[in-house]
Amino acid sequence: MDFLLKNARIIHLDPPKIEEADIRIIDGTIADCGQSLRPKKSDEVIDLSGKIILPGFVNSHTHLYSALSRGMPSPKPAPRNFIEILQEVWWKLDEALDEESIYYSALVGAIEAVKFGTTTLVDHHASPNHVRGSLDLIKAGIAKVGLRGILCYETTDRGGMKKRDLGLVENERFVIENANNARFRGTIGAHASFTLCNDSLRKIGELASMYDCGVHIHVAEDRADVMDSIENYNTDIISRLAALGLLRKKSIFAHGVHINQKQFARVEKSGAWMVHNPRSNMNNAVGYVPLNWYGEHSALGTDGFPADMFDEAKFGYFRNAESDHRVEFSRLPAMLQNGQKLISQFFGRSFGTIVKNSPADLIVLDYNAPTPIIHQNILSHFLFGINSTMVQHVMTDGHWIVWNHQLVEIDEYAVMEKAQKVAAKLWKKMNK
Ligand SMILES: [Zn+2]
Repeated sequence: MDFLLKNARIIHLDPPKIEEADIRIIDGTIADCGQSLRPKKSDEVIDLSGKIILPGFVNSHTHLYSALSRGMPSPKPAPRNFIEILQEVWWKLDEALDEESIYYSALVGAIEAVKFGTTTLVDHHASPNHVRGSLDLIKAGIAKVGLRGILCYETTDRGGMKKRDLGLVENERFVIENANNARFRGTIGAHASFTLCNDSLRKIGELASMYDCGVHIHVAEDRADVMDSIENYNTDIISRLAALGLLRKKSIFAHGVHINQKQFARVEKSGAWMVHNPRSNMNNAVGYVPLNWYGEHSALGTDGFPADMFDEAKFGYFRNAESDHRVEFSRLPAMLQNGQKLISQFFGRSFGTIVKNSPADLIVLDYNAPTPIIHQNILSHFLFGINSTMVQHVMTDGHWIVWNHQLVEIDEYAVMEKAQKVAAKLWKKMNK
């Protein structure tokens, strides 16, 4: 189906700009964007007067496998630090995952994401007792909703070398099989350098080099990760990653909470991406770095929190605002928009722009602004007015997948009812 969207009010976050235009969509691509476009015979014409249009958002670091953890019983005694949070919560959860719970985690995570206006998920998956084929289950859940994904498996030494190798093979298989996929691509996943020996990191770096697909890894999320490198390898974490081939273009480094400004600059220079996850960092109380340390290659992720990128940007802004290093208003929206640049590198198409030849991944917002919206104040509306409940329609690849806040092809209530049963089973298995 071809569409002509009339009277669209298009918002660009970086640099902030408003444009009134008509948008023609043919075969999943923006075929034209301009003034007073005339309908063609094949066009379905949709009048978007009064609505706001933005490119679909990207969640640049997340863990769909945690989607069924919401509300599960807390461990007792409560974890006292980051390592205990991993051991007592996330590593118990990922070990309990099976085929059904992996698929439902991805499906419900993707359903929530699209209703928030997020159209691409950069996922970091772990399920140590169901490694082989796990990325296909995540892909199936995301594909069912109609979103795009950049997927990987968190390779780690924590379950021994046999399981490490399963992780490496799963990453390589997925990268190869999806090398030309329009909606999915693979990258090489690694948990964090403190759960990987040099031999493992070298193998990960070699795969990333072979397929030019980067490495998706947690970096310096907690001080423990940085100290491991110094104490056990006598080098700083970024130098260790660089020496073993992980510091490279397209690599995605999540967090960076405990590296210094010089190390941030080194990552930036390499072309790797740093992904800031403000809500997760605050929740785990791992620390904070000034936002002006993040370079041009920096994006926003939710690290397993629901993919509400409006919320993530706001939390990031407010955390920054109360810090001693407050940065300019525009930094968070710019980092959010950078996620679209990140995925553009993987797909080889220009996401995040509403111009001729861009992919038609769009969100339509119903925002009845109480004050004028002009170029100079868009970001104020974005941070203090607009929110994800205003996402009315969502299109990916030229298809409407949310219309009037409802999923077009999925019975959301039936999925959530089933997911609740799967979650209850998963929690029971965790506690065995
Ligand atoms: Zn993470």
